[in-house]
This record gives sequence, C-alpha cells and structure tokens, in this order.
Amino acid sequence: MYLQYTMAGETETDRQDSALDRDELVRYSRHILLPQVGEGGQRALKRARVLLVGAGGLGSPAALYLAAAGVGTIGLVDFDTVDLSNLQRQILHGSAGIGGSKLDSARERLRDINPGVHVEPYQTRLSSDNALEIAGGYDLILDGTDNFPTRYLVNDTSVLLGIPNVHGSVYRFEGQASVFGAAGGPCYRCLFREPPPPHLVPSCAEGGVLGVVPGLVGTIQATEAIKIILGLGDTLAGRLLLIDTMSMVFRTIAIRKDPECPACGTREITELIDYEEFCSGGGARERGMAGVSEIEPAQLAQRIARGEQLEIIDVREPYEWQIGHIPGARLVPLGAIPDEIPRLDKKRTIILYCKVGARSLHAAHQVAQAGAADVHNLAGGIVRWIDEVDPSMARY
Ligand SMILES: [Zn+2]
Repeated sequence: MYLQYTMAGETETDRQDSALDRDELVRYSRHILLPQVGEGGQRALKRARVLLVGAGGLGSPAALYLAAAGVGTIGLVDFDTVDLSNLQRQILHGSAGIGGSKLDSARERLRDINPGVHVEPYQTRLSSDNALEIAGGYDLILDGTDNFPTRYLVNDTSVLLGIPNVHGSVYRFEGQASVFGAAGGPCYRCLFREPPPPHLVPSCAEGGVLGVVPGLVGTIQATEAIKIILGLGDTLAGRLLLIDTMSMVFRTIAIRKDPECPACGTREITELIDYEEFCSGGGARERGMAGVSEIEPAQLAQRIARGEQLEIIDVREPYEWQIGHIPGARLVPLGAIPDEIPRLDKKRTIILYCKVGARSLHAAHQVAQAGAADVHNLAGGIVRWIDEVDPSMARY
C-alpha cells in the first residue's frame, strides 16, 4: 500500500460552497459516472487549489487537463513570453500568442476549455522571497520547472508548507515523475540532497526534447494531482516513475524517506535558499550568459572551412579528447581553464566546447569575464557536432 494524501473529506459547508449546477453536472458527467469520483469527488475537485510552477512543456498538458477536470482554482507561476521554439511541446500556447506573456496565453486557453475554473496568475520567477507566500494558499504544487534551482525551491517550499509536490522532469526521450512531500513520504532531497554544481548539470540549455515527452509526463502529473485531490488509488509517493519512450518501457523504483534528509528528515532547512540561477527558461536569451553567445555546429564548420583564425578550446577530460575532437581544437580541461586564461589572446575569437555544452558554458563564462571580447559556446557540444557535421566520429 502506497502513501495516501487525501483532501476529499467534505463538510456540510464545503458541500454547499461547491455545489454543482446543472451545466456542471453535464460537463463532468463522465467523471460523476465513475463510482470512485461521483458528485462528491467532483465537488472536491471544484474546491481544490493547485499551483502550477511553470506554464511550459510540463505545465501545458497539466494545466489543460486540470482545467478540463474542473479543478476549481489553478495558480500559474511563469515570467516568460511565448517563443516560436516553445510551440513544439508547450501546447497551452499557440502561434497567435508569440511574443506575449505565457500567462495571458494560458489564461485565455484555460478559460476557453473551462470558464468555471478560476486562474490565479503570478507573473514572476519563483524565488526564496515569494515562494512561501505564493504557494501558501494551495493544496498541492505541480512542478513543471526545467532547472535545478527552482526544483529545490519547490521541494523545500512543499516540505515547509506540508503540501505535496507532484514532480516531473524530462530529458530528450526520457521522463520522470513522482510525488514528493506527501505525509510520510520522501521528498526530492531524500533522493538528491544538494543541487549538483552548475557546470555538471545537463540542463535545458543543451537538451533537445521530443515534444510529446513532456506531454506524457505532464499528463501523468495531472493524473497524480487529481488522484491526490480525490484520495484515489496509489500515488507515486514513495516511487519514482522512469519513462523511456525509445524502448517504451515504464518502470517504477521504490524511493525511501531519508531520516538524514535536511528538508524532511532532520528539518535543518527552516527557510528557503536561492541556488545559483543556471538555466532559467531555456530560451536563447537566457542561455547566453553575459558576454557569451552560442555558435551552431554548422556555423563553426563553415568558419573552419573558410580558414578563419579561431581559438577552439576543448574543455573535456583527456580520455574524452582521445575518443575524438574537432579539427584545429586544443585540449584545456575545465579544471585548467583558470590557469590558461592569462595566456589567452583576448582579441581572438574563442570557441569552447565540451560533450553537450554545459561545462564549456561554464568555461566560456570565465573566459568572457576575464575580458575576452568574442567568446562562443558550441551549442550541443561535440554530440551535436557529430550529429550535424561529422557522423564518422565516435560517439560516447
Ligand atoms: Zn526529504
């Protein structure tokens, strides 16, 4: 038996406050027909307050299904605008919304799906200053963020407030989901105590993702949120669901509450902390850290072919260099970058790369801060170089 978190207990006042009118009885008839839901369950959904952090790839399907299901109040936190590159997966938004705020686009779409749902927008980035205040009035949080700082922030907020955190994450063709912070269940820090150092994080800055993968995971998150509200079935509390769409294998692994966990175990974490912002929104704008721009593999190949004098630096480890490297590059492993910086000709065009682009972004940032004028990070690292320029090179 897995852990349960139920909010279906209904008082007479609740019952009156969330009474369903005739249109609602029709709209939700396929729910009400289910004996496990019935009118009482539908009223519980109507009373429920769910906070979605992020109106992106995961938040899109989650918001659509929660609104359609009749969750009475949906809070949406997002600070971003709709970009053309979002539409491959962020199905809450459409072409007409490009350039506008994601919250406006989301509110309009949700209102069309279900005008009975109250949408509470928060046009802001979730931070240690505002998270407790924003999340305080909600029954559960659905985490649709794509970066570690916010993921830890959401986790700690959920633990401090004692409300469940329905977690989801995606990477390329894979996804994960769980329910953290449910009564008696583990939290995200029980699994991953501290955020990894930013330069080791494979983040949204470099990851492609198959558009339907966040669709699957966000829909699973919505399913878990609805089960929690209704007190139905076995939730993913105490389990981590791993989805691999390439093999189409879904596995769950048992995860345990760690008594030493600083959030939910020892309770050392008594207030929220902000972690270094590493990858805020996935857009090219955020990706370019100060003074660093991205270069596409094909652009770099052209510039090499034209015979331009480029300083191409491979910041990987020697064993990776031996597997294969870009012609004309030289090896300076990430750890040796600070020593190399004084020797670099800061007037030259400097291009850095690693395996997938995160370590080299970190290095590029250091080089730019040291005064180099024209610093580029190779988008997607050597992995994309192999895919798009030289498939004959060995992959690893
Ligand atoms: Zn924990």
